Formats: sequence, C-alpha cells, structure tokens
Amino acid sequence: MTGTITNWAGNITYEAGELHRPVSLDEVAALVAASPRVRVLGSGHSFNEIAEPGPDGVLVSIAALPPLVDVDGAARTVRVAGGIRYAELARAVHAHGLALPNMASLPHISVAGSVATGTHGSGVGNGSLASAVREVELITADGSVVRIGRGDPRFGGAVTSLGALGVVTALTLDLEPAFEVEQHVFTGLPLDGLDAAAFDAVMSAAYSVSLFTDWRAPGFRQVWLKRRTDQPLPEVPWAAPATEKLHPVPGMPAVNCTEQFGVPGPWHERLPHFRAEFTPSSGAELQSEYLLPRGRALEALHAVDAIRDTVAPVLQTCEVRAVAADGQWLSPSYGRDTVALHFTWIEDTAAVLPVVRRLEAALDAFGPRPHWGKVFTTPAAELRARYPRLGDFRALAREVDPKGTFANAFVRDVLGD
Ligand SMILES: Cc1cc2nc3c(=O)[nH]c(=O)nc-3n(C[C@H](O)[C@H](O)[C@H](O)COP(=O)(O)OP(=O)(O)OC[C@H]3O[C@@H](n4cnc5c(N)ncnc54)[C@H](O)[C@@H]3O)c2cc1C
Repeated sequence: MTGTITNWAGNITYEAGELHRPVSLDEVAALVAASPRVRVLGSGHSFNEIAEPGPDGVLVSIAALPPLVDVDGAARTVRVAGGIRYAELARAVHAHGLALPNMASLPHISVAGSVATGTHGSGVGNGSLASAVREVELITADGSVVRIGRGDPRFGGAVTSLGALGVVTALTLDLEPAFEVEQHVFTGLPLDGLDAAAFDAVMSAAYSVSLFTDWRAPGFRQVWLKRRTDQPLPEVPWAAPATEKLHPVPGMPAVNCTEQFGVPGPWHERLPHFRAEFTPSSGAELQSEYLLPRGRALEALHAVDAIRDTVAPVLQTCEVRAVAADGQWLSPSYGRDTVALHFTWIEDTAAVLPVVRRLEAALDAFGPRPHWGKVFTTPAAELRARYPRLGDFRALAREVDPKGTFANAFVRDVLGD
C-alpha cells in the first residue's frame, strides 16, 4: 500500500510512504532481514510517533497474515495472531465458552499493538491486557523466530516492549470461563468530601469501574460500573442512577456505547465502552493518559481540579480507571496498583500541547507514567527514572535486536541510546 499513511486519529503521518503487508511468515522474515530499520503498525490507534520507522525505515502491517485464533479449551489458552483485533478474538473465544479477563474501552485495537504499549481496561483486580499474555513469538532482525514465555528470565521485557524487539507474530493468552456482565451508569459523584476510603469503595464497587468528568464543574458526571453477574450487587449510596443511556463524551450518541441499565450480556459486549460495529469514542480527538500510584489518586485528582479552568476548554472527557500492578518492566502499571487518569482532548494539537505540559507539571509530584501510545511531553530522562527495570529492558533489546533494527527515534529516546 503506498500513499499517505496516518494513524487512526490522523494527527501522525508516517514518513514511510509505503505500508508493507506480507501475507506469510516467510515473507515477514525476508522483509525484515532485508531492511535496516523496521517498525510494525498495528491498528494505528496510538496518538504519537511510537510506530514511526523514520526516513530510512520500513513500516509493516501484519494484518494480512493468516488470522490465527487457536483456542485450547482444556488448557484455557488461546494462541492468536498478533495482528488480530480484540473484537474478533473475543467472539472466537466466547464461542468456546471462554473469556479474556478484561478489555480496553474499545475492541478495535490489535492484540500485539495493545500489549506493546501497556493498554489496559479498568478494575482494581485487573492487570493491563499484557497480564493475560503467557508467551510471545517474534520474528527478529535476522529473520529468525524467538519465543519468550512466562518463566523465561526475559519475559518481563517481552510483552510491553514498545515494538522494540521484533515483529510479534503470535501470542498465547490466558482465558477463563465465560462470564456475564451488567453495566450500570450513575451520575453526579462529588469530588469534594470524597475521602480515600470512599474513593477506594467506588473504584472497588464492581469488576470494572470508570469515572468520567469534563472538569467543567467539580466532581464526576458519570460513574460506570461493570458488574460480573457472578459477583455481588454493590451498594451505590454516593451517586444517582442515570435516567437515560449515556456516552462518556457529552453530546455524542449513546447508541455507539455498549448496553447499559443493568441488562446482562456476554463479557465482550459489556467490558468495552464502545460497540465493535461503531466508531469508538468521539473519532475527532487526541488522547493523553497518566498512570500513578492508586494510593495517591485522590491527591492527583485534586491537583487536576485545581487547574480545571485550563484543562476544560480543550477537553472532551476525562476518565479515571484502576489497574492492578503487573510485572512487565515497561508497563506503566509495573509494580504498583495504579489509577489511570485519561484525557480525551479536542483534535487540535497546538491548543492541546500547552495544556498537556501544564497537566504534567500538576501531576509531577505523583510520579506519573504516561501511556506509551498517547500524547505526552515528559522528557525521556524523567521517564527513565520512573521505570526501575528500564536498564534490564535496554539489555534485553540489545540482546534480541543487537543492530537496533526495531529501535526508532521514540524508542532510542526512551532508552537513552
Ligand atoms: C479511541 C481509542 C480508545 C482507546 N482506549 C484505550 C483504553 O481503553 N485503554 C488503553 O490503555 N489504551 C487505549 N487506547 C490506546 C491504544 O490502546 C494504544 O494506542 C494501542 O497501542 C493501540 O494498539 P494498536 O494495534 O493500534 O497499536 P499501534 O498504534 O499500531 O502500535 C503501537 C505500538 O505497538 C507496536 N506494534 C504493533 N503491532 C506490533 C507487532 N505485531 N509486533 C511488534 N510491535 C507491534 C508498534 O510498532 C507501536 O510501537 C485507545 C486509543 C483509541 C484511539
């Protein structure tokens, strides 16, 4: 495919004028072995230059490889092609009476691209999507295949790898028995007066919880609870039930959203906020997200509240989610139970960037780790200090990819190379 190649949001145009779409693993291996610089483009849902191969680089999509989804019902695992999107994976897994533990807000994203950036959903007991990965299979720079599974000392760097190790052609994921979920939406949760115990109670009230605000007024406009029907019905004394179906972005049609009002349904039709067959979110947007220790979430929310007059004019919606600690060295939720503060901005980079800088300054005291796939301006030296195992990842990247074939400017900057 030649011509202008952009990400989903359209704010990044890749310098590579061509998107290679190999149809076999042999073709991937030959292409990689013949190219000095390679980056894979997943479904292109990142908002920054993380996938940019640079002027001398080759941009590869693996979406045309055979759509492997091999469920092992006895082992409760699935081996899946890296380019498959979660919507397709979820349907196949569900057909076997099984489930993924969690999903992001939209099912349109590719599996390999999502876990490469530490993509997550919500839930105090739910790790990032990378937590479900048992093994990754990579084609490395010389065209050879490397498999890294749990138990391998390299595994901590292998999943949330920013695409820096090789082409992830397949992953094996943990599954669990299928479950049903009800989605309940509430309105009007105040921030003032919410103490740490109450905040924890809200975030723990269901399997997956999201708070939404546009920061035009203090507090949260919406609280979304995704309750597994095999878990108790929560008491919700702090907010009123919604009286109509709601979209997290004010003014957007709620028809794009997954079923609400407590109608039970399969896990994969409730855990994402957006239906697979509709445009997710607003479509005309930029996004940023900062992951910080859950114990400091309330302080961080008050810090954002203090600058809401700056934030609100360029904001469509802000979402607050919980993510359980994981063990991926470059995961933004590595080693700490996390709260993620997400911002869907208007589609205007020049207006948004100064606000992003101001927000980062306001959150700095909480050691925030920006989402790797979203807009941020935090200097790389500061990022490095927030990842205690970054040196181990750098060593792994040098071992698996000694010539730096998969290291673009974004990765070199992060690693300090
Ligand atoms: C509307 C919208 C909603 C979102 N919601 C959420 C959310 O709920 N939670 C959240 O955490 N994030 C969310 N995101 C961010 C999104 O999940 C991440 O940007 C994620 O990386 C997207 O996956 P992708 O396949 O599009 O990756 P891409 O943007 O295509 O690529 C991301 C990185 O992965 C690498 N990569 C991709 N495929 C491979 C491969 N096969 N082998 C090696 N490297 C590879 C790329 O080189 C790049 O470095 C959202 C984004 C959008 C646009």
